[in-house]
Amino acid sequence: MQGKIYLVATPIGNLEDITLRAIRILKEVDIIVAEDTRQTLKLLNHLEISKTMISYHRHSTEDKKLEIIEKVNSGKNIAIVSDAGTPVISDPGEELVIEALKSGIEVIPIPGPCALIAGLIASGIDAKEFLFLGFLPLNKKTRKEKLKEIEFAKTTTIIYEAPHKLKTTLMDLVEVTKNRKIVIAKEITKIHEKYISGTAKELLENLGEPKGEFVIIIDKNEEKNENIFENMTLEEHYEYYEKKGLDKKDIIKQIAKDREVKKDEIYKKFIKK
Ligand code: SAM
Repeated sequence: MQGKIYLVATPIGNLEDITLRAIRILKEVDIIVAEDTRQTLKLLNHLEISKTMISYHRHSTEDKKLEIIEKVNSGKNIAIVSDAGTPVISDPGEELVIEALKSGIEVIPIPGPCALIAGLIASGIDAKEFLFLGFLPLNKKTRKEKLKEIEFAKTTTIIYEAPHKLKTTLMDLVEVTKNRKIVIAKEITKIHEKYISGTAKELLENLGEPKGEFVIIIDKNEEKNENIFENMTLEEHYEYYEKKGLDKKDIIKQIAKDREVKKDEIYKKFIKK
């Protein structure tokens, strides 16, 4: 009989943050697939669990993935864990989930800590709707696109950042977020846990040398739509609706409406698109 795959959330700092169900599953499965087996061993030792582990990380090969799926197909139950928090969220595991579902394997989430959720709920920033962008890309072009998305975001935006890149990211945010409130949730659930709020510029001035782990929570852009489009080039305006999934005809119609011009006028500009 085919086994099952459990996606088990583990602590993001405080070892007490693990559910009873997560502990039971880690005890019951045949194998634990870990992002870094040394890191997971610390948790397993703390929980007094001894278990066979296989490493699976972002550089793991296709063969490694298929080997794991094969074990599940031959009846082994597997728990997937990352170094911290919820697997798959800015962490390995997604390809395994996709491959498992293709093979008809049951994939079961075991929910628990996730830094973006923990940071958001303590930030005081609107949590009703939010956009999670993970880590901002390093590639110049895609990074610029993501920054544009943040600039015009009508909901809270959440990003992850490594300490050595935090300053650069805040510098980029100064330009696109202006006076919007930002909260930096630092070292959530750990000894030096701290929530620092301010504009990107204020945060840069007061931050000092960033050490530890950070979630950045950015308040929405509350400017009225008219103002947003006024500040966009036609290309950016087009991309704005393209990202929302509109087709060319509707985009042109919408741009004409926003800019109070005739549709034909906009159509001519995008004739080659
Ligand atoms: N899968 C994890 C989760 O569920 O949150 C995220 C993994 S991602 C590779 C690591 C990033 O998550 C860090 O660079 C940081 O932005 C954020 N993070 C993880 N733990 C954190 C903590 N205790 N405090 C603040 N941010 C944290």
